Amino acid sequence: MLVVMKKDASQEDIARVIEKARTVGYEARPIPGKERIAIGIVGNDHPIDPALFDSCPGVKETIPVTKPYKLVSREFNPRDTIIRLNSCSIGNNEGFTVIAGPCAIENEHQALNIAHHAKRYGAKMFRGGAYKPRTSPYSFQGLGEDGLKILAKVREETGLPVVSEALDHELFDIVEEYCDVIQIGTRNMQNFSLLRRAGRSKKPVLLKRGMSSTVEEWLMAAEYILHEGNSQVILCERGIRTFGNHSRNTLDLSAALFVMKETHLPVIIDPSHASGRREQVIPLSRAACSLGVHGIMVEVHNSPEKALSDGPQSLTLEEFAELMRHVQIISEAMKTLTSLPSHAGMEIGSEGLSHINIHQEGAIKQCA
Ligand code: PEP
Ligand code: MN
Repeated sequence: MLVVMKKDASQEDIARVIEKARTVGYEARPIPGKERIAIGIVGNDHPIDPALFDSCPGVKETIPVTKPYKLVSREFNPRDTIIRLNSCSIGNNEGFTVIAGPCAIENEHQALNIAHHAKRYGAKMFRGGAYKPRTSPYSFQGLGEDGLKILAKVREETGLPVVSEALDHELFDIVEEYCDVIQIGTRNMQNFSLLRRAGRSKKPVLLKRGMSSTVEEWLMAAEYILHEGNSQVILCERGIRTFGNHSRNTLDLSAALFVMKETHLPVIIDPSHASGRREQVIPLSRAACSLGVHGIMVEVHNSPEKALSDGPQSLTLEEFAELMRHVQIISEAMKTLTSLPSHAGMEIGSEGLSHINIHQEGAIKQCA
């Protein structure tokens, strides 16, 4: 339930609502808004009687929240969460954030080479696995702490924030120490002790969707993190298991759209793990950008044929530069389209397309 306070509610009124919630065994989470404060009530296992709060001084209204996920939902918090790191931010109206880097950190030269290139072409964050979740125990498992040290060096040299996966509870502390954003991979999306640990972190968490998870399960996983107190969560759709072998996974674009509507958290797409095939990565990135998500995370390698992990889906440096050109064009077009008046519930009017000229050099301009 959401208890919405009146604009002129006093600190005592707010404290009284919080105290009342606690005395009956619920948790109260104040959510400051532009004009008024709302208090999210969670921890109930049955519907809350609105009369409990309706009569409290300073309460404007009580709104039942019907969804199983609460803290991540827009019902609880309509304002978009924006995650800010030194040189980069991710979330609504902050542009399209590209996170790029190799699947695995292999050595310093490789990581720095890719990072400098990625930065030059507009990547805002660097990714790279130091601990790799591999299907086979005989495959390259990552450099471990040495890989994290290389990531720290990349940040120092390029200024790019770095993201890497914490494979389990035991490794969380060390990944947290070196990295700016901690990734929880698809195989761990329902590792509840890991989610709880991530929830106690002060650093942002990039939570990938489980490869066989429903959207609701994914949002409930994010709820674990917020419930522990960390509201800096980036949701990443990375494809789910389906029947085909035309691609490694199936990129679920409608799930990304749905979670953008349902939650206030930033949403990104990983076209690399979604496809497993280099030739699909640029088209899927274009689709992601035109969907209006907040960014992508893409695998790039200076020599994909020699990569120790996920070479077939890694873009070459040249392909990454091409991807960035495409994404910039589409981002500009998106700005134009979203500024057009919408019709009949369509956010982007199809009629708007007739106003757009795509010039030879790729620049997009709106005709007078
Ligand atoms: C990764 O991003 O390195 C990774 C292993 O991804 P996923 O968990 O989506 O398979
Ligand atoms: Mn990978």
